[in-house]
Amino acid sequence: MTEETGAGRTRQLPVFHCPYCGDEDLTPHDDGGWRCSACLRAFAVRLIATGVQR
Ligand SMILES: [Zn+2]
Repeated sequence: MTEETGAGRTRQLPVFHCPYCGDEDLTPHDDGGWRCSACLRAFAVRLIATGVQR
């Protein structure tokens, strides 16, 4: 049985802006990353922490 808490909602949402050039023309890339059609960079978004502080 899986228990769903408020901090457990880590579903990945689409990226809307390229972190390098700011363009919005992004398409899904292999391995779960994104590819920017403007600057042709491919990048991945990785969760490194949640907002919970201890
Ligand atoms: Zn870009």
